[in-house]
Amino acid sequence: MIVRKLMRAMVLNTPGQPLAPICPRTPAPGPGQLLIRVHACGVCRTDLHIMDGELAQPKLPLILGHEIAGTVAALGDGVTQFQTGDHVGAPWLGWTCGVCTYCRSGRENLCEAARFTGYTLDGGYADYTVADQRYCFRLPDGYDFAEAAPLLCAGLIGYRSYRMAGERIERLGIYGFGAAAHIIAQIAVHQGKRVYAFTKPGDAEAQAFALRLGAVWAGDSTAMPPHPLDAAIIFAPVGALVPAALRAVAPGGVVVCGGIHMSDIPSFPYHILWEERVVRSVANLTRRDGEELLAAASAAGVRPTVQRFTLEQANEALERLRRGLIEGAAVLTME
Ligand SMILES: [Zn+2]
Ligand SMILES: [Zn+2]
Repeated sequence: MIVRKLMRAMVLNTPGQPLAPICPRTPAPGPGQLLIRVHACGVCRTDLHIMDGELAQPKLPLILGHEIAGTVAALGDGVTQFQTGDHVGAPWLGWTCGVCTYCRSGRENLCEAARFTGYTLDGGYADYTVADQRYCFRLPDGYDFAEAAPLLCAGLIGYRSYRMAGERIERLGIYGFGAAAHIIAQIAVHQGKRVYAFTKPGDAEAQAFALRLGAVWAGDSTAMPPHPLDAAIIFAPVGALVPAALRAVAPGGVVVCGGIHMSDIPSFPYHILWEERVVRSVANLTRRDGEELLAAASAAGVRPTVQRFTLEQANEALERLRRGLIEGAAVLTME
């Protein structure tokens, strides 16, 4: 496979500023790393939080992007799990220490030394990127690169949130019907759950989109569902949704906050938490989540809805995501 010496990339130099196009040298894969020819990279709300300085520890300058779908273009020393030409995905979790208490207890998502793609490591808003083979996934058959990309964060974090909502639930509420919600709703419906979709008040398009994907009910986030929910996942970064979701779940119900950043949660009366309701967050992902999500998406025949942009249109894609104008997931394609 021919690897170009220089590549295109969109780089964040200073939080608060738009991304700038650059043409750096194509990185060489280090020991255990893959050089990935990026064909598609999803645009995630976390990218906005990084650009806005709400996640305060980025590497700078930084190539954003942690929903990377591409082809293995070259192998670093010692790579055994992949060959050149393999279709591969690289997610947010880019490296963990492997020796801390979290890593040794199946909770590598909480590793304090973890490195994250498109945040503390350069990511996929580029023609090429390097990634540690141990954190990469083989892409399932039947997806083109642009469709596979949103599975790698929206799908994955959505899946971890869904898993934390509990196995025995019947009625699942989803607050914020964007990239993660539209993937996880398809899996939940396939698994026989009844999905209730909550959107920004008056967002008839998002509500219609949710119903098309199999939700049994769609309405405003300020509304109460027709039946109490067994669990709710909040994907929108809006703290006021926490008490709203608590009021919508039945006794014993779990409210899962799926985002990496959220506005402050207003105070609420104890009685809406009483009766063993639970509020929890999810952070990052484990490799097990990735394997399970890709298998579940394949089994459910999940079809991500994607809006494609070129690499140079990254700022436009981010702005449209910020303004709530993306149906499904925004993806940069490098072909
Ligand atoms: Zn660790
Ligand atoms: Zn993400």
